[in-house]
Amino acid sequence: MTPAATLYIIATPIGNLEDITYRAVRILGEVDLIAAEDTRHSLKLLSHFGISKPLTSYFDHNQQLKGERILSALRQGKSVALISDAGTPCVSDPGYQLVRDAVAEHIRVIPIPGSCAAITALSASGLPSDTFTFAGFPPSRQGKRRTFLTSMAALPGTLILYEAPHRLLQTLLDIKEVCGDRPIIVARELTKIYEEFIRGTVSEVLASLDSITIRGEVALLVAPGEREEPEHETLESVLARLMADSTLSIKDIARQAAAITGVSRSEAYQEALRVKNIREDA
Ligand code: SAM
Repeated sequence: MTPAATLYIIATPIGNLEDITYRAVRILGEVDLIAAEDTRHSLKLLSHFGISKPLTSYFDHNQQLKGERILSALRQGKSVALISDAGTPCVSDPGYQLVRDAVAEHIRVIPIPGSCAAITALSASGLPSDTFTFAGFPPSRQGKRRTFLTSMAALPGTLILYEAPHRLLQTLLDIKEVCGDRPIIVARELTKIYEEFIRGTVSEVLASLDSITIRGEVALLVAPGEREEPEHETLESVLARLMADSTLSIKDIARQAAAITGVSRSEAYQEALRVKNIREDA
């Protein structure tokens, strides 16, 4: 049995129902109450897995009131599962406030991991995955969207966004304008029948989208911008710079030059002596 007075944050599929975990199905069948973003939507999922449990709604506009009721159930020792329409609750979905308040009251919160469109898209993207930023939905108004994209443009790693299909074209145009013509991926209908990865530079993807109407759900991945390599200083230029400081001894100069350029101290010392002698002879 599930422990009492516990809030479970349960990921549900983003399309393919086989993507729910055994653990998620078991816990959904054991809790006292399921809080769902849209109870009618979640009823279909729950009945598919033969789960019949008291359901309550928990969505953006009733979070305050419903959050208090859910916390009250938890305080009374009940176990509650939070699910959203698809994927992981709290990821561009309701849940954050409830988790924050439960944590503040020292109520146990247990995550039951599973699908998340951002991570699913990243895993098959072929874009750098060691560092990435997930930034959810860009603002819907163009001015704010461009400001938002400007703040993201120089971040290291892959940028992952969610976008509504009817705003995709405009957002891509803004990405091209603000971030440059970078490689991007439109990951569409992940885990579903018409799953598709549209890859190319922003211009290439825009050209291919021109001929099709984007339908369904999309996640958008933007490759990191080119990083400017710091200019590599030669041993000679570093020595010249350090020698301009008359307070440094040849030993100090060699030590610092070795640290900056990566050559050995003895090589830096020999070169420093050679440059010093040339200067003195001149
Ligand atoms: N909590 C969800 C998660 O873990 O991914 C995200 C919920 S958010 C309200 C919905 C957005 O996620 C969609 O507009 C789309 O950008 C993205 N998304 C969800 N399912 C998707 C799918 N099957 N393929 C591509 N993107 C998806």
